[in-house]
Amino acid sequence: MMRLPSFRLLSPRSMDDVTVALADDPASTRLVAGGTDLLPNMKRRHQSAKTLVSLRRVEALRGIQGDGSSEVRIGAGTTLAEICRSDVVKSAYPGLHEAVSSIASPLLRNMGTLGGNLCLDTRCSYYNQTEEWREAIGYCMKECGDVCWVAPGSSRCWATSSTDAAPLLVALGARVKLDSVRGSRVIPLEDLYADDGIAYLTKERDEILTEVLLPSSDKTKTTYLKLRRRGSIDFPVLGVGVALVQDDAGGVEDVSILLGAVRSQPTRAKAAEDRLRGGALDDDAIAEAAQLARKPAAPLENTDFLARWRGAMVEKFVARALTSLRGR
Ligand SMILES: Cc1cc2nc3c(=O)[nH]c(=O)nc-3n(C[C@H](O)[C@H](O)[C@H](O)COP(=O)(O)OP(=O)(O)OC[C@H]3O[C@@H](n4cnc5c(N)ncnc54)[C@H](O)[C@@H]3O)c2cc1C
Ligand code: SF4
Repeated sequence: MMRLPSFRLLSPRSMDDVTVALADDPASTRLVAGGTDLLPNMKRRHQSAKTLVSLRRVEALRGIQGDGSSEVRIGAGTTLAEICRSDVVKSAYPGLHEAVSSIASPLLRNMGTLGGNLCLDTRCSYYNQTEEWREAIGYCMKECGDVCWVAPGSSRCWATSSTDAAPLLVALGARVKLDSVRGSRVIPLEDLYADDGIAYLTKERDEILTEVLLPSSDKTKTTYLKLRRRGSIDFPVLGVGVALVQDDAGGVEDVSILLGAVRSQPTRAKAAEDRLRGGALDDDAIAEAAQLARKPAAPLENTDFLARWRGAMVEKFVARALTSLRGR
């Protein structure tokens, strides 16, 4: 049985107490929300902390406000199950409902939160193993080693971003609020991520993600498609989040296509978006855009399924997502 290392647990009720606790010793303090990612990682000795700051009792972090006709605010501590049950999310942001409903399993969604999902550690089949396994082959650079076992000549880590909510939320143009003792700032969610398997978040260590802000759903149609081995529980090996605005004639007024699990950050298929914007959403346009979407994806042999096949699936899934939105 894998056991947790010992740590000090703080369980504040106010946001002020959370930010003060984080500022006290940011290098060896970690936030824990649902704990469904952090605690298994600590058991496998991927992550460590002298102090954990639990967010479970911070009421200010919970809840969904707004009806989609204007901005909607989702507290970072809102559980995935609460988001799945939300009528606002179901009616105004069906793509977000699809994405969040596909995360893990019902039990894990009862514990897991949106904030934890957006800050989820990157994954790699050489890293997500027991400590004995990793020690036997030699630790890689995401830990204390100096080699990448996936791309030994590479100077960077290619562990993949595996959050299901982020691609759809970035496609929607969501923003996030980050708080610390130094104040608050709001940034586009897209800017929270960096294409680096180790430093995959751009936020400072003393910052906490407090809110996710969704723009009014207005005329935007959304969908999320996910490829995984087992339909009932697995992490994505590909996620496709699309937000589409059509004009009255059915042409593409605006479109965002985001790919998950193909690099260390949610990845925008910009050439595909440019191909579609301002034109008709016919079969030819969808086929060309889907082909263009394959290029920015760089799946490597560090997760389930063959990388080449996962790359080929990008085209299929983007075409399927666009076709389904056209029909809605
Ligand atoms: C068997 C299994 C299957 C899974 N399948 C999926 C899947 O299909 N898709 C998927 O996306 N995930 C999956 N997960 C991962 C996880 O369950 C979810 O991503 C969940 O949403 C994580 O949220 P949490 O609140 O439990 O995060 P935690 O484990 O509490 O935290 C995760 C990370 O985020 C940080 N953090 C938490 N809250 C904040 C905050 N407010 N501000 C800043 N940092 C914060 C923590 O410090 C930690 O580094 C799976 C996990 C398991 C065990
Ligand atoms: S991509 Fe390379 S450095 Fe990163 S976790 Fe995997 S083996 Fe380690």
